Amino acid sequence: KDKSTVSITVVGASGDLAKKKIFPALFALYYEGCLPEHFTIFGYARSKMTDAELRNMVSKTLTCRIDKRENCGEKMDEFLKRCFYHSGQYGSRENFAELDKKLKEHEGGRVSNRLFYLSIPPNIFIDAVKCASSSASSGIGWTRVIVEKPFGRDSGSSAALTKALKQYLDEDQIFRIDHYLGKELVENLSVLRFSNLIFEPLWSRQYIRNVQLIFSEDFGTEGRGGYFDNYGIIRDIMQNHLLQILALFAMETPVSLDAEDIRNEKVKVLRSMRPLQLEDVVVGQYKSHTKGGVTYPAYTDDNTVPKGSLTPTFAAAALFIDNARWDGVPFLMKAGKALHNKSAEIRVQFRHVPGNLYNRNFGTDLDRATNELVIRVQPDEAIYLKINNKVPGLGMRLDRSNLNLHYAARYSKEIPDAYERLLLDAIEGERRLFIRSDELDAAWALFTPVLKELEGKKIIP
Ligand code: NAP
Repeated sequence: KDKSTVSITVVGASGDLAKKKIFPALFALYYEGCLPEHFTIFGYARSKMTDAELRNMVSKTLTCRIDKRENCGEKMDEFLKRCFYHSGQYGSRENFAELDKKLKEHEGGRVSNRLFYLSIPPNIFIDAVKCASSSASSGIGWTRVIVEKPFGRDSGSSAALTKALKQYLDEDQIFRIDHYLGKELVENLSVLRFSNLIFEPLWSRQYIRNVQLIFSEDFGTEGRGGYFDNYGIIRDIMQNHLLQILALFAMETPVSLDAEDIRNEKVKVLRSMRPLQLEDVVVGQYKSHTKGGVTYPAYTDDNTVPKGSLTPTFAAAALFIDNARWDGVPFLMKAGKALHNKSAEIRVQFRHVPGNLYNRNFGTDLDRATNELVIRVQPDEAIYLKINNKVPGLGMRLDRSNLNLHYAARYSKEIPDAYERLLLDAIEGERRLFIRSDELDAAWALFTPVLKELEGKKIIP
């Protein structure tokens, strides 16, 4: 029998992320039997709510996986009974002490482990950490805090945030979340590389011409421009999500799968990179346009965006890793909002085949038709390799075909949301998919100079 208990407090429980991601992920973990036997979930925010009101709010967000619909309602009711709410200020030790009292009642004298998920705006992170750690830390079990991005706006503010967090917490209590690391195909990157003979030997400047890391959204800020305008697409997507993928893609083989071994390799590759140069970046901002009789607003038409804002909603950048493996290979990042589709993918473009026999007969087209490995992170997960192939028949005609691992066709299971993986890891103390502070410093060092230059020179998108 498990004698310990886990109490999960969602700080900012009334907010968007809590409703959209955190509570549904916790329920999915419960349904899958992944939560410990004894657990309690508390919502904490300033809004006044009763337990019943929280449960009602949460119940509207829960869903069951398509393949697991039986007992769904029953499981939801059981889960909701384990959810409670405490209203309090984020900077009030007294209010967190009241929460502590309630947590203790639920923990019933067991070894209590406590996880706080900070789902609040960054300006109140430190207040909440200070009060939660001083008034509601576990006495005998562990206390961990999940922190959401943004982790600062640049090297200086990020270092200040880390320093402030470390006044109240040890590094191993801080779980900086980058939900891209919890995505199935991002996790699979290392499996692909390190457990298939055919990829790793090709993973270098010798065979790879460039690597593209692409993020596109088919919607704009839509009333949430207030947050976005202060950050822009480079901070919001490139410095964290795309750079994390790049680090996993390009790192050397870690000593083991242990969190520290993997994170050591990620830091090493980030520190081998050249800070992004202004001449290697293009920035853009979406304009209004009309399609099919519908007019879509420009970024600056959003009421929450300051008039005349120069914040980029699109950026393309070339980054370089100055080490023996990747010297001269551009890592091309492209990220944008309000584009024509919604996707995140990694495209690995290989060099041309030296002395290709078929060039003689088919001209130079084959030079361009090089192999490309595409890892489609979302939507509709897939890994496919573009190859040149003979079109069946008597003649000799080549075309481009795909060797295609299409997840929906190969695996009938629904893929868990990234937040499920990350919450489970935080509960289990697995730090592999969370960002260590030296990783964060290295990531900001690459982007801070160019961000300062773009803003200082008021570069027009
Ligand atoms: P949110 O809805 O704006 O805020 C969460 C809660 O914080 C609100 O319900 C509110 O609760 C409290 N709050 C809001 N503004 C406040 C203020 N100025 N002072 C004090 N309390 C305030 O935020 P969110 O979208 O859920 O995001 C939470 C965190 O996750 C943020 O750090 C965000 O950057 C990050 N994040 C969000 C998303 C997303 O999809 N939403 C994605 C990635 C990361 P009460 O008024 O009840 O106290």
